[in-house]
Order: sequence, then C-alpha cells, then structure tokens
Amino acid sequence: MKNLVILGSTGSIGTQTLEIVKDKKEDFSVLALAAYSNVDLMEKQVREFLPKFVVLYDKDAAKELEMRLSDISASNNIMILTGMDGLIHIASLKEYDMLVAAMVGMIGILPTITAVKAGKDIALANKETLVTAGHIIIPLAKEYNVNIYPVDSEHSAIFQCLKAQNSAMVDKILLTASGGPFLGRKYDDLKDVSLNDALNHPNWSMGKKITIDSASLVNKGLEVIEAKWLFNVDIDDVEVIIHPQSIIHSMVQFKDNAVLAQLGLPDMKLPIQYALYEGSRRPMPERKIDFFSLSKLDFLKPDHDTFRGIKLAVDSYNRGYVYTTVFNAANEIANRYFQEGRIKFLQIYDIIDDALTLDFDYCSTPTLDEILNVEKEVDGYISSKY
Ligand code: MN
Repeated sequence: MKNLVILGSTGSIGTQTLEIVKDKKEDFSVLALAAYSNVDLMEKQVREFLPKFVVLYDKDAAKELEMRLSDISASNNIMILTGMDGLIHIASLKEYDMLVAAMVGMIGILPTITAVKAGKDIALANKETLVTAGHIIIPLAKEYNVNIYPVDSEHSAIFQCLKAQNSAMVDKILLTASGGPFLGRKYDDLKDVSLNDALNHPNWSMGKKITIDSASLVNKGLEVIEAKWLFNVDIDDVEVIIHPQSIIHSMVQFKDNAVLAQLGLPDMKLPIQYALYEGSRRPMPERKIDFFSLSKLDFLKPDHDTFRGIKLAVDSYNRGYVYTTVFNAANEIANRYFQEGRIKFLQIYDIIDDALTLDFDYCSTPTLDEILNVEKEVDGYISSKY
C-alpha cells in the first residue's frame, strides 16, 4: 500500500490521479490533499477519500471548507490547513511514501524541496519547479536518495524509452510537440486571437495555464529545460519536433542511430499511472491506438519566428539559471494577464522579453531565497508596467 500526498488535487492531473487511486484501492491510500481555492471540488474529494490532512492555499477558502466539513472532520480526524505553511506541513509528514506534485507554477518549489528532504519519492507534473530550481532539486534528490518520476507525457515517454538502455549511448532527446491550436499561423494571424481560441487545444484536454502555454509554445520551452534536468543531457541535445497528431509522445535517438519512441493516444492516465507505480506497467482499461484509422504521422520544424516560446526558454537557460526563473515568472504573470483579458496573446512574448532585460547580480546558480526574490522582483516590474 502506497500512501500519497497530492498537491493540486482539484486540477486536471490531480483529479485523474484520484481516479486511478479509486480504481486501485488495494495499492494506494491518500494521506493529504491540497489545492489552491476550489472549495466545492475539495469538499467532494475529502468526503470520498477521507484524507487526514487537507490544505486550501487560500485562507478564506480554507475557512469555508472547514465549515462545510464540520459534520465529518472531528470524527475522522481531518485537519484543515492553509497557506504555504500548510503545504510545507503536509510535504514533511512522516507517514507517506510519494508526493504527487501537480500544482501549477512556482508555488510548488518549497513543498517539493521539503518532500525531497523528507526522503519522499516525487511524481512530478509541476514542471515550473524544475525549470526554476532544477540545479537545486536534482542534486538534492541524489543526496536524499529520492526518485523523481516524470508525469509530463513527453518526459514519461522519454523515461520509458530510456528503460534498460545505456544512458551514455544517448545521442539526442527528440521532444515532440503538437503545435497547439495555432499551428501553421503566422505572427500577423495571431494579433487578435481570443482566450477561447487559445484554450481550444486540438488534442489534449488540460488546465487553462498549460493550454495557453501550449498555444504560445512556452510550454515546450519549459519542457526542454525540464528534459535537461530530468535526463541529465545538454540542452542543445534536446530537439523539438512538431508532431500534430500527438501519438508519439517523444523519442530518444541513440549513438548507433537507433530511435526509440513511445506511442499512445493523448491521455494523461498512462503517464500518471506509470509514475505512481514507479515506472512499472499495469493494465489500463482505456482506449487503444487503432493504427488503421491513424493513416499517417506528420513531423514539422517549429516556426521559431512566430512562436518564440522555445527560443526564449533556451536563451534564458544559456544566460544562467537565474534567468530561467525570470522567464518562467514573467510567463506565469503574462499567462494570468491574458486569461484576465488585460493583454493580447502576442504580448505574452513581449512581457517575457521585457522581463529578460532586467539585470540580476546573483551568481548563475541562485539559491532558493534568490529564486523567490527574483520571482517577486519580476512580478513587481511587470505589474508596474502592464
Ligand atoms: Mn507535456
């Protein structure tokens, strides 16, 4: 029986994780659930899974949840917490085995580091954590003997392709990308696209933040850096290939020119389950690929002039790790502004560009405090200008 702490339980990855837990009751139990502010769904989840600890990051939401659960919380020993302190508290609990890091954004850094220091394995969906603090988390995981299992579909594919292979023989990671809803469009075609246009992803059903990141290809930029950290490769050895059908979830090219790929329908259940079982296979009832109805698989070069998300990410990485935080923090804010209707789609790139003009005196390998300071400074700079 594996006891789980799930951060981001009301999001897309979190809810699918709980569906797997429900199907495999003999293998998993839930010690703690955490989310940002979704009281309705969290109440449902708590009543169903009866975790001992619940965190809603938002204080008012936590109070509301406490009221709603008053009929069951005392009799079931359910403790309701809030804020970063609450997240850190549940990440440091003794009586669990794996942290599912499925929250969105840099909010995940501190709880994830806390779990690593407590010696817990991590099922990692929260890519922003590795993008900004990979140089801290990866060595720390080694030091504390912690395994990090990727949940991101591309990275799960790469992880599967690397199984039983000699990692010294890896030549290149071939990271596939669907291209998102705006594939094939040029810069001028994107001037007036709406939020709904950006949320209309052709293949994947995901949360809003990542869906917008997919439309801008910032998501793929984040994933290039994520791959660099997870698989210990040079960033130049991660190549992005646009593959609009999203059937190949990524590939690894070896030095003898063999290429291994992992294929599947676009469904996060497999990568989540594969991570929960520490990289071992279990049956999956869902649909299977029908090769005869696929007919063809396409591969294209990314259009870096229109979709600047990948280049901006790689350039920021090459400037020093502190700039991956600038890149990511600026994108998190720009993404939110776009959702709020405060900026147009293409301004996402302008805001990231603008933030990258800021100079930071920190050394190229910033400490955790410095990372969090940079995030604050970028936030202050952008909110004063846009
Ligand atoms: Mn992905």
